[in-house]
Formats: sequence, structure tokens, C-alpha cells
Amino acid sequence: MTDCIFCKIINGEIPSKKVYENDFVFAFDDINPKAKVHTLVVPKVHVESLNELEDEKIMAEILKGVKEVAKIKGVKSYRLQVNTGKAEGQEVMHLHFHVLSNTVERKEN
Ligand code: AMP
Repeated sequence: MTDCIFCKIINGEIPSKKVYENDFVFAFDDINPKAKVHTLVVPKVHVESLNELEDEKIMAEILKGVKEVAKIKGVKSYRLQVNTGKAEGQEVMHLHFHVLSNTVERKEN
């Protein structure tokens, strides 16, 4: 989607601090972190919100991406947030899973 900020990040048109990427998902640090670790995991295809996500392969890949991010960031304890719909705080209309943790067990390289 041409005017989607997260699509532009995935395409490299807007810079980001990439944490992880595979064929299905892209993960990058949130620009305005709410915790010591605050990374967003997004599907590479444009899906507006969780409500529009039908593809079970992508559902699985997002959760695998979350676990990869936790491993890369050195966190065993973390929480996920998926704001779904503007009324519950979704500001960017491209599905994203917030991975949040304040219990980092080792420093990043
Ligand atoms: P939400 O309110 O769930 O839609 O969350 C959107 C998140 O995207 C917020 O936590 C923002 O800080 C984050 N965000 C917006 N623009 C960028 C960007 N260019 N790079 C990284 N994170 C961003």
C-alpha cells in the first residue's frame, strides 16, 4: 500500500532499526519505546488489523517472529500488545504486534 508507513519501512523507503526479517515478517524497534525492549513485528503483506488477517501461515509466522525477536533481544519475559481498531488505540493501520519487555537478561551486541 503506497501511503502506509509500515509498508514503506518494509520496502526500505523509510529507515528503521531492523531486528529480524524473513519472507513473511519484518521486525523493527518502535520509534517511541514504552519499555527497554519495544519491537514491532509486522507481516510483509499489508493487512490493516488482526480482524482482517485470514492467512493462517502469516498468523503462525508472526508468532514465530515474536519468539525470534525475544531471542535476539535477550528476553525470556515479555508481553504482547495488538491494538486492533482506532477506538482501542491502533494508530498505524498495518497490523503490528508490540513486543515489550523491561527484563533484558543480556546486552545487545
Ligand atoms: P499503535 O498505536 O498500536 O498503532 O502503534 C503504532 C506504533 O508505531 C507506535 O508505538 C509508534 O511509536 C510506532 N511508530 C510510528 N512510526 C514509526 C516509525 N517510523 N518507526 C518505528 N515505529 C514507529
